[in-house]
Amino acid sequence: MLTAILEDLGKFIIKDTPEPPAPGSSEVQIRVERIGICGSDISAYYGRHPYIHCPIILGHEFSGTIEKLGADASGLAIGDRCTIVPHLKCGVCPACQAGRYNQCGELRVLGAQADGAFTELINVPAEMVVNVPDSVSMEQAAMVEPGAVGYHAARRADPKPHETVVIFGAGPIGMFTMQSVKALGAEKVISVDKDTDRLALASSLGVDGTIDLLQETLDAGLDRLVGGAANVDVFIDCVGFSGDALNNIIRVARRGIRVVVAGVLESTCNVPLLPDFVEHELTMIGSTMYVKQDFADVLELMAQGKIRIDGIITHHWKLSDVKELYKMIDARSEKFFKIVLSVE
Ligand SMILES: [Zn+2]
Ligand SMILES: [Zn+2]
Repeated sequence: MLTAILEDLGKFIIKDTPEPPAPGSSEVQIRVERIGICGSDISAYYGRHPYIHCPIILGHEFSGTIEKLGADASGLAIGDRCTIVPHLKCGVCPACQAGRYNQCGELRVLGAQADGAFTELINVPAEMVVNVPDSVSMEQAAMVEPGAVGYHAARRADPKPHETVVIFGAGPIGMFTMQSVKALGAEKVISVDKDTDRLALASSLGVDGTIDLLQETLDAGLDRLVGGAANVDVFIDCVGFSGDALNNIIRVARRGIRVVVAGVLESTCNVPLLPDFVEHELTMIGSTMYVKQDFADVLELMAQGKIRIDGIITHHWKLSDVKELYKMIDARSEKFFKIVLSVE
């Protein structure tokens, strides 16, 4: 079967590899159909990802059909359309016992610390398989993983019906967070970024207002849209990195409100206004990955049309062309948002 292996930094090899063994009793074998390319799949190519080391088979956002069933894989059937929570848990720690695998200290993620889905067939734990309703396409199903990252962040924000939520970062995760916050019932959702195209996409997906930081300051944008930063109830940082967005949030946040950090912060991030965070008694809430229920909820919201991928997937490539794809990514010869691979 065809497998793409990131053998070394900047170097994929496409290989004919043996099929996996029959799935273990608590596993199923998935025939992979669609795979989303994540920002982490790009940073891994440059050796900039802290947890991904070569050689590795990337791919943690994927959908497919069940090819083979282990003896104890109950509730699933061969041919089922599905997507997969890409988690290999320890199963015994308190977090695992509570079903919060994203908090497992021994967690391995497919496509990061274990081989992933840039291949035709993969064995996964049966309990990580989530069935996909007929009304949701395989392409949408491959977007459930990043969708669940955004949905989890939105749930951590816990928006109330009268609340105004401001989301920093209109990348894929910001886009899913924004739609999730709306689906969970917030009154007003504002998207903040420095990219006109991304903000236009956020508008087309239902955000109530946008602030382009290359055109106006955060303060001016919030004055214009909601009558000032004092009227914002929750901020969500989907940027992370060096902490600039978080610092900007702390600078304007009304005393006592919630700030969710969903973007991955660099370990050396610099947030000079953290003393204000303390003095203003802000509540900082971290959000990482998702739990299995988030996958089910996102699928339901996709089926209801409340979480959409229209305009999010800009590029379709074949897995067999992954080397050329990464050349395009490296050269930035085309503007892309989300790329999906098909396995044929
Ligand atoms: Zn991802
Ligand atoms: Zn565990």
